[in-house]
Amino acid sequence: MKNCKNTFIVRCGEVALKGMNKPYFERMLLERIKKNLKRFDGVEANRSEGLIFVKAPDSYDKQEVINEISRVFGVSSVSSAWETESEIEEICKKAGEYMLELLKIRNINTFKVEVKRADKTFPMESPKVAKIVGGEVLKACRVLKVDVHDPECVLYVNIRHGRSYIYGDKIKGLGGLPLGTNGKGLILLSGGIDSPVAAWMMAKRGMLIEAVHFHSYPYTSERAQEKVYDLTRIIAGYCGRIKVHSINLLKIQQAIGENCPEEEMTILSRRFMMMIAERIAVKNRCDMLITGENIGQVASQTVHGIVVTDNAVRMPVMRPLIALDKVDIIDIAQKIGTFETSIQPFEDCCTVFLPKHPVTKPRLERILESESALDTEGLIASALATRETIVIDVDD
Ligand code: ATP
Ligand code: MG
Repeated sequence: MKNCKNTFIVRCGEVALKGMNKPYFERMLLERIKKNLKRFDGVEANRSEGLIFVKAPDSYDKQEVINEISRVFGVSSVSSAWETESEIEEICKKAGEYMLELLKIRNINTFKVEVKRADKTFPMESPKVAKIVGGEVLKACRVLKVDVHDPECVLYVNIRHGRSYIYGDKIKGLGGLPLGTNGKGLILLSGGIDSPVAAWMMAKRGMLIEAVHFHSYPYTSERAQEKVYDLTRIIAGYCGRIKVHSINLLKIQQAIGENCPEEEMTILSRRFMMMIAERIAVKNRCDMLITGENIGQVASQTVHGIVVTDNAVRMPVMRPLIALDKVDIIDIAQKIGTFETSIQPFEDCCTVFLPKHPVTKPRLERILESESALDTEGLIASALATRETIVIDVDD
């Protein structure tokens, strides 16, 4: 019997823990999965009793469909499954065929059967089903042995109302929560390694992402700006749609250079970035700011530097990388695909105006005093006037 559709079972992990809100989270997840699978014509996706079932025409490569599904935040795992009637004879027959197919591509010697009976009216209890199915699989595949403690393969049988499902693998998804279930954050996006990772991590917790980038054109190049759009495009592969605002910080940096101590350039520019970002966030209904800051030895990222930066705004600032080691951040950057772009050597507005000896222990009162020499409001307004906004949407 040939199916014209492949079936995929999607597990929702943490979404399943959300109590009363569970239907809402599941609905959001279902929508995101459908969106990710838009390019596959004829795909159907439905929720049923805590799982999401996806059916795709068998003309599509199964692995490609799985890759798309497992990229959706909120998916804990996905399995390519065989569907059968909920009749013990049918289940046994299919289980035997499934294992024979699996043996063609994998070298397996031992297995066990795990049965889940979501349909409690099914007239046989799970351990009994496992025993009968196991026996039939042994008959069909003479090379196999049962090992209930440490099997090389687990054959799962999921018995549901009317239909049952047989599968051998649970492919891990990204986990997290469906996009759009946790407000919107504005990432301060440089062209570096950290901020794209920070954006991705917050998106993984269900937060929609908008971005602001600061440049010092013509001291920074158009190619540096392109690099930021490239990074945004990669993150948008997970988030769907990201609005990016670009702001020219040059006038502010020049004003700081002319009126403030040289070693305070970085910390003062960072405060301006935060103040400008906060204005943009409020206007665009973002709930929080996000940065890629991480406690370290870089001048602006010592604890004192972060305290002084934080003081520039009232809006909460999320710093999801704060306690990670650089190697761990790089690992994530590689996994999500931003690393290679991040390390392209283009100048950043901060490096253009890097002081020789930046303050590593800035004192808030000192910094505020230096800042008072500037027309803060006027500078912020003229920087905001340079704003260019584009929308990067990989769904379109
Ligand atoms: P990244 O790799 O994200 O650039 P970094 O380790 O180089 O981080 P900094 O350059 O000190 O650290 O920047 C700290 C944070 O400040 C960044 O993660 C980012 O959120 C923000 N930031 C720095 N430069 C810019 C910029 N040009 N535009 C927007 N945000 C920026
Ligand atoms: Mg940087």
